[in-house]
Amino acid sequence: MLGLMQEWPLLCHKILDHAALFHGGRAVVSRSVEGPIHRTDYRAIRGRALQVAKRLEKDGIGLGDRVATMAWNTGRHLEAWYGILGIGAVYHTLNPRLFSEQIIWIMNDAEDRFLFVDLTFVGLIEAIADKVPSLEKVIILTDRDHMPQTTLANAVAFEDWIAETDQDFAWKEFDERTAAGMCYTSGTTGNPKGVVYSHRSNVLHAMASVQPDMLNLSSRDRMMPVVPLFHANGWSTAFSCPMVGCGMVMPGAGMDGASIHQLLSEERVTVTAAVPTVWLMLLQHLEKTGDTLPDLERVIIGGSACPRSITQAFQETYGVEVIHAWGMTEMSPLGSMCTIKPEYQDLSGEAKLDLQAKQGHPPFTVEMKVTNDENEDLPWDGKTFGRLKVRGPAISASYYKGRGSEQFDGEDWFDTGDVAHIDPHGYMEITDRAKDVIKSGGEWISTIELENLAVGHEDVAEAAVIGIHHPKWDERPLLVIVCKEGCNPSKDAILDFLRGKVAKWWMPDDVAFVDEIPHTATGKIQKMDLREQFKDYSFPGT
Ligand code: ADP
Repeated sequence: MLGLMQEWPLLCHKILDHAALFHGGRAVVSRSVEGPIHRTDYRAIRGRALQVAKRLEKDGIGLGDRVATMAWNTGRHLEAWYGILGIGAVYHTLNPRLFSEQIIWIMNDAEDRFLFVDLTFVGLIEAIADKVPSLEKVIILTDRDHMPQTTLANAVAFEDWIAETDQDFAWKEFDERTAAGMCYTSGTTGNPKGVVYSHRSNVLHAMASVQPDMLNLSSRDRMMPVVPLFHANGWSTAFSCPMVGCGMVMPGAGMDGASIHQLLSEERVTVTAAVPTVWLMLLQHLEKTGDTLPDLERVIIGGSACPRSITQAFQETYGVEVIHAWGMTEMSPLGSMCTIKPEYQDLSGEAKLDLQAKQGHPPFTVEMKVTNDENEDLPWDGKTFGRLKVRGPAISASYYKGRGSEQFDGEDWFDTGDVAHIDPHGYMEITDRAKDVIKSGGEWISTIELENLAVGHEDVAEAAVIGIHHPKWDERPLLVIVCKEGCNPSKDAILDFLRGKVAKWWMPDDVAFVDEIPHTATGKIQKMDLREQFKDYSFPGT
């Protein structure tokens, strides 16, 4: 017997319809790329997204066509996303921080036909456009007055381009499994791999994301997604905020501490989300200026492990709750969040910080397990770590064009490439990337745990741990450190600080001081380059 309920396809543009109808006047504020703060609302964004859709269709874009965006978080970028997906075309976010060769490779792989681009990146696109033969038109996200001189053939100003149509248009209807968006993983090894989101996966993922134990969003919140829309599907904020009528504050190109703080306070943001490096910059700004965060209630930190010192500073100095999050481009991207269940609500001080260092528990729609190399399930004892595998309706079943099939096993579990353990209450903690974990005498040492501890030292700005070949133990940890400006700690001071906080055999064999640690385009430590940098290094006495 089948249920007798309506078929109501889960299409992303229905989210914007809902926002426009029931939360139409809710503010969407952007720091525009041209400079001034721009204010709009969900009703106006929907109208202009319909205009984008109608204009795209007039230009011959339709179902399944890839339309790239290379843009900061602004209201216009949202209008472009919804306009694209509302006719069944596919938004393809490009990360401008990648090398040009990678961007060319990705655009050719996706066969992008149109591109929406911010003023900031016009030069970058001019330099590569002739290497992307599929690219027919470039829409510069600005108006006529700010239109730059450009060598791009077929470049138009967004405002002129949409002004040629009106808002009298109806979204297209299609199967909810239709592709809505694309995002390539950074590809630290080999070529990037294309992740393709469907309308259904984006809607289900947004529904899971807004729940109280996840982003906990409501119409009473104002969310500032500092995490760019071009990083891992923008952590779903383009869907989760309008879904519940949560206001949006978009930082545009202003990613420095002062600009972020200005919007947080002037727009009375209640919740914000980004990678740890952004929060380090904000905290440094606050420390320097004495500014505070009176309206901010919680900050979502993920993308890489959140150092304990950041959590502590937000909570103890500024009264802002930190929620550690874990996810991946392949997971749409949110996989788990470290909100506090009743089992742990009595924790305080160091014990609470210990818990918050974990990546947390998943929402309904994300299944999780840890296995050994033989694919046998490991116990949930909060100690035994192994490969973290996941499955669910918003998790990749394969990559674009069938690449990377080794990451998917026969039962549809996706191997995240992360190493983790899970505790009896279902809290997962990442201990490493499978390729970074240090294998010392047959046992594993977590580089992330050592890094988190090291950045707790008052003189340390950033820390990375890599495995160095050791004649007896196979690999031993080397701690690489960037000091805070004007600080000059000794090796012994750093090692003394770690001593007693980790098992003796986890202690780094040496400390190296450097001016800079290499980062990936998404701001994570680039261990491959760091290993390359230290390939001739050997431990004293070996
Ligand atoms: P990239 O394109 O940089 O690989 P992803 O966001 O897809 O972007 O990267 C996902 C990976 O980032 C995860 O598999 C994990 O290794 C790491 N990661 C994300 N969040 C956390 C976190 N909170 N703690 C530790 N690692 C994290």
